[in-house]
Amino acid sequence: MRFVVSLINEYDPGPFPEDFDRRVIQLASNENPYPPHQEVISTLKNSVMEINRYPSPYYRKLKNLISEYLGVDSSNIAVSNGASDLLRLVTDLFIEPFDRVFIPMPSYTLYALFSMLREAQVVTKVFEGYRLDGCYDRGKLAFLCSPNNPTGNVIDRAVIEEFLENFDYVVVDEAYSEFAGTSVVDLINHYENLIVIRSFSKFFGLAGMRVGYAIAHENVARAIEKIRNPFSISTLAYKAAIAALENVDYYRKIAGLIVMERDRIAKRLGKMFYVYESHANFLLVRHEVGNLADRLMERGILVRDVTGLEGLEGPHFRVSVGRKHENDAFLSAVEEIT
Ligand SMILES: *Cc1c(COP(=O)(O)O)cnc(C)c1O
Repeated sequence: MRFVVSLINEYDPGPFPEDFDRRVIQLASNENPYPPHQEVISTLKNSVMEINRYPSPYYRKLKNLISEYLGVDSSNIAVSNGASDLLRLVTDLFIEPFDRVFIPMPSYTLYALFSMLREAQVVTKVFEGYRLDGCYDRGKLAFLCSPNNPTGNVIDRAVIEEFLENFDYVVVDEAYSEFAGTSVVDLINHYENLIVIRSFSKFFGLAGMRVGYAIAHENVARAIEKIRNPFSISTLAYKAAIAALENVDYYRKIAGLIVMERDRIAKRLGKMFYVYESHANFLLVRHEVGNLADRLMERGILVRDVTGLEGLEGPHFRVSVGRKHENDAFLSAVEEIT
């Protein structure tokens, strides 16, 4: 086994309903709590008889729809098995051993994991509340996340441009972009070193399907396509993503409900704790209650305990916005415990 593997901390996926022998409310993984659009369901049913065949190798229809959705050329799009797979492909594509990779914290932990696997020199720097207000380093690659997981804030466009001027390559993870209504996808026409990563797991509610994509200069998009596993998106996932994109209005409506619920929860939680301002479908909360996440878990409510994440001082949890009845159950449980 390679030595570096022993140095890498496992990715912590948080608690999952399967680990409990009763019904729980899952607010730990930032999933979309609403059901898929009817057409996604019927497409999946109708595609079952095709699973003896390989999926279409180039995923052209999906790329064409993403191209329309974002207003970029389909030659600028690479697709694969979830945004996390694209993050890994990007590290495979760019990082040589000892390359300097800059990761502002607190942020998503997979960036460091995949970079270390490439034997990069990982440089993290803490920004309180992930408030980046300039460029701080130089190097091969910087990983930015906007809106950021777990703080929920958006990075200023000007700051991202500054990073683009100072790093060979900049990844902007926009897994939650649709909830914020902001994006830097258009900057790929000005910066050949920008790679934007997007997911079908959050806004489009297909976390169980595993579909993600990258938007970048066509040379980069082509290179990602070249090194990904052939057929890395399954037939069913491919069809589901297409049907979801063809019904984007449904998901926009849902995102509107989620944002309204988020602001309602934030207000209630704000009476008890410090709540970070969020532009995503989750909230980060700093608190002083011992074992709050565990005590919620005992009541069947799963949130993500992010205490100890580099860049967070003191106990914190991250809670995903669920359906109204789930959020109410969560809020009552919190109020009961405190
Ligand atoms: C959820 C998440 C992803 C992973 O998305 P998948 O498409 O499910 O792999 C990537 N980046 C961030 C910041 C996330 O929160």
